[in-house]
Amino acid sequence: MKRIRSEKGLRKAIWAWRKAGEKIVFVPTMGALHEGHLTLVRLAKKHGDRVVVSIFVNPTQFAPGEDLDAYPRTEKEDARLLKAEGVDLVYIPDPQTMYNVHHATSVTVGGVAKGLETDYRPTFFDGVALVVTKLFNRVQPDMAIFGEKDYQQLATIRRLVEDLDMPTKIIGAPIARDEFGLALSSRNAYFDETGLALARKLNGIMKRCAADMRDGQHVDTATDAAKAALLAAGYSSVDYVEVRSPNSLTVLEGGYLNGPARVLVAAHCPNGKSSVRLIDNFAV
Ligand code: AMP
Repeated sequence: MKRIRSEKGLRKAIWAWRKAGEKIVFVPTMGALHEGHLTLVRLAKKHGDRVVVSIFVNPTQFAPGEDLDAYPRTEKEDARLLKAEGVDLVYIPDPQTMYNVHHATSVTVGGVAKGLETDYRPTFFDGVALVVTKLFNRVQPDMAIFGEKDYQQLATIRRLVEDLDMPTKIIGAPIARDEFGLALSSRNAYFDETGLALARKLNGIMKRCAADMRDGQHVDTATDAAKAALLAAGYSSVDYVEVRSPNSLTVLEGGYLNGPARVLVAAHCPNGKSSVRLIDNFAV
């Protein structure tokens, strides 16, 4: 496995593979890799000839006061895991080369990127869209894999790629969960035992919410009950529990399920003296 930090080195490797007619599949990550990331890598291997994984904790998607500095960084272990999966290249750009002092361009996606996460993290998708655009320009992948764990992010990337005519096919990967249904996340590393036990209650509460809607309950009644159940379980606050149509992420007309939908949730789970913001989503 090649471990490359320079843009020049990256382009050289990509160019050689492209010249040989090989299909390149890209998996962007922020590192602190877990089994969820590795399912993306395995899917990537199925789709192409060469798998490129990037590890970059992207500063532009963190707002002031968020956990940019505290975000777990485990590069050595990440590289070991990726090598064991047969990854061809891990790209680890350094922040100075991604954003130099003259950087003055932004990328803003509307539509699906508005509401939900943006109501609580207004600049988050600007940061994601910018870094994905830059990484795609550097890697020039035929395909890229993103997890459904970050469902609105996946929808935003699909919009970005279509709107800006990027020649990369986007593939969504199912959510990897632990045996208690908690979606795997690098931020789960923050949890102590009590916090983790509370985090694992999210799945049951959301499944109940989905079942209530399937049984004909109005979405507002079901989502209000889910919010109340999260707070009663000990969550400190709930940013949203929303039901949206799976592709456009628009609000359901009429307030009842009338086909496939997605329930999306963001809630703050107390952990020691602070809390961890969990996001998750479920198909209904
Ligand atoms: P991150 O390192 O958190 O930015 O995630 C990198 C990629 O892995 C994104 O496309 C995420 O959606 C995806 N991902 C993270 N956790 C999971 C999970 N539990 N299941 C599926 N995909 C995931």
